[in-house]
Amino acid sequence: MHSARRGTVAVLLLVFANQLLSQTTKGADAHLVVVRAAKMLDVKAGKVVANPVVVIEGERIKEAGPGLTVPAGAKVIDLGGATLMPGLIDAHTHLLQNYDFALGGDDNNMVLTVAQMSPAERALLGAKMGREDLEAGITTVRDVGNSGINGDVALRRAISRGWVSGPRIVACTRALAAAGGQFGKLQHAAQALVKQEYVEIATVDDARRAVQRAFYDGADCIKVIVNTGPRVVSLEEMKAIVEEAHRVHKKVAAHAIGDEATRIAAEAGVDSIEHAYIVPDDVLKAMASKKIFMVPTDYPEEIYTGFTPPGATPEERKETEAAMKQFVQGSRERLKRAVAAGVRIAAGSDEYYQMGKRTRGESSTLIYEAYRDSGMTPWQIIQAATMNGAELLDWQDRIGSIEAGKLADIVATSGDPSQDVRELEKVKFVMKGGDVVRNDLSEPPNR
Ligand SMILES: [Zn+2]
Repeated sequence: MHSARRGTVAVLLLVFANQLLSQTTKGADAHLVVVRAAKMLDVKAGKVVANPVVVIEGERIKEAGPGLTVPAGAKVIDLGGATLMPGLIDAHTHLLQNYDFALGGDDNNMVLTVAQMSPAERALLGAKMGREDLEAGITTVRDVGNSGINGDVALRRAISRGWVSGPRIVACTRALAAAGGQFGKLQHAAQALVKQEYVEIATVDDARRAVQRAFYDGADCIKVIVNTGPRVVSLEEMKAIVEEAHRVHKKVAAHAIGDEATRIAAEAGVDSIEHAYIVPDDVLKAMASKKIFMVPTDYPEEIYTGFTPPGATPEERKETEAAMKQFVQGSRERLKRAVAAGVRIAAGSDEYYQMGKRTRGESSTLIYEAYRDSGMTPWQIIQAATMNGAELLDWQDRIGSIEAGKLADIVATSGDPSQDVRELEKVKFVMKGGDVVRNDLSEPPNR
């Protein structure tokens, strides 16, 4: 009797399993989502595809190409005359700070932010900044420090668990730096603040320990401030940092400005040099041959010249404007030299100020105009903001292009960004991992 009952159960289970199987097969198409539009940017080939159909299953792209058959029963999102492209990648963000120009520059803002805001409070600020990035089409960021102690890891986890809406985050935890980090002058008692924001290193042992500490804290990558004023991390320390990180297949982002710091970073073999507003030709050559990315955190000229220190006299204002103009000219010229030397560019905003009424995403996407003003072509800029960023983040297998198997991070614009990159400032449709974040094209805008 026992064995008969067991047999019946087995048969029932079989029938049940078959039913389940047929149900899932029959119902499969109902789970598919199709996004279609007039054009799609094939960022790898650098060409426009007409009448694209992107078939999405769950969080991933199942198929993408021109004129594909729409599977029966799939939910269709028709974006009409729009242009589809992969989600934007910002390789240099600071989501956990939002400085106020009225407080008078970086030094004052840093002290007030670190002294007054807990990492928890900053993570909540980061949730707002992240949502604003995502709504502007930035579906992935590499957040490079200035997050307090591990606030960026908390935000990354909150987003990936679906607690808050934001971009995918590659987090660096605290940046490694020479004594004082990037703080301005601090009284001795106030110098305890430095450790809330940076890990100070002065020896090769410190450097190795700091990298391992970062990974213990949950870092996906390492950020190093190679130079701040006359304080420069040594070549030996940089080499140890790169060795420790690369040993476990993680990347190193180096903040470096000027001949000495950029040369140390390039010689140590970092994965990206951030800013590099001043960089000599021999370093550019080394960057090109070692495949080190440059992340030019540049803005349109009017953004720099529009800035005036609070309480400045008309003369001071004039002086600032002239200095800014000169700075902009220099940075345009260095990006031109970098591209000509064959240095690969990954787009990064380094936005950390409240820019008037602009959202964080709206101000961060102004960088593409600056790249254009340095002579980069729209396609070079689009690739810098998508596939190059993906490679720098080591996520080229999941993001950076619209291809079968990749995550369905897709944005759309009314106009064609390969004709005018300013379209990237006006993203009207955002999908992250198959979820529609924003759709002002086939549905009325909700704000
Ligand atoms: Zn930065």
